Amino acid sequence: MKVIVAEKSGFCFGVERSLKLALSASKSVGRKKKDIKTPVYTLGPLIHNPQVVKNLEEQRIKVISKLANIQKGILIICSHGISPQILQDAKRKKFKIIDATCPFVKKAQKLVQQLTKQSYRVVIVGDSSHPEVLSLLGFSSGRGIVVSSVKDLDKVPVSGKIGVVTQTTQLIDNFRVIVSLLVNKTKELRVYNTICEATIERQKSARLLAGKVDLMLIVGGYNSANTTRLAEVCKKQNPFSYHIERLKDFDLTLLKDKNKIGITAGASTPDWIVKEIVDKLSKM
Ligand code: SF4
Repeated sequence: MKVIVAEKSGFCFGVERSLKLALSASKSVGRKKKDIKTPVYTLGPLIHNPQVVKNLEEQRIKVISKLANIQKGILIICSHGISPQILQDAKRKKFKIIDATCPFVKKAQKLVQQLTKQSYRVVIVGDSSHPEVLSLLGFSSGRGIVVSSVKDLDKVPVSGKIGVVTQTTQLIDNFRVIVSLLVNKTKELRVYNTICEATIERQKSARLLAGKVDLMLIVGGYNSANTTRLAEVCKKQNPFSYHIERLKDFDLTLLKDKNKIGITAGASTPDWIVKEIVDKLSKM
């Protein structure tokens, strides 16, 4: 069986950066139980991969879902960013803050802030419950509207000026179609394509490979937006495309009569998980 890994896949720059910052914060407070005076927290999982989050917990980096009931410590802001309101809360509580927001997300946050200041109605194309989208929404002073697909366009009122940004991991086709319909809602439409380079490269590479192999595995957290988008891209190209977190999730009988297997991984999937899958499949 031939196993081919997509040219661009796995950890992106933003995820690697956030991991480095988190690990160095944990090192700075010491590893042994007796050394630890300052707890290290991430607000929500640092990245959307349960295996990595588990490893971080072993390094004493704890995931919290809200700031309430926590009084002190180091707070790492995840690559998806947080809203200015939550940041203010954290500062008020005197957390030592380490900002691991990906620079691409920061750029989108700034655009939302600028558009809001200039009285644009801000439309954010993305998944309404994703932390990145919630952070962007926080920069819109309550004037932002999240649109995940054309079905949500009814939520956007006719406005004098509309500004659009997108979640960094969106599919360009979805963004394009929403933008083309927003033209009917305003006289002035300002569009910023904030899909990040890592997403574009990974989607392009996955699409190419999916078209050349008998079966495609897309590896990454089930809660990872960018991995889910990669799976959608592959499925369009090849019906035998499967999103898995680990090889044990996959029904191996589906490999019957398949000679060429393609593998891609989301931006939050560590290399060791991909390697484990490639090694096992290559031996079959
Ligand atoms: S997927 Fe893009 S925006 Fe998200 S962390 Fe990676 S580089 Fe940054």
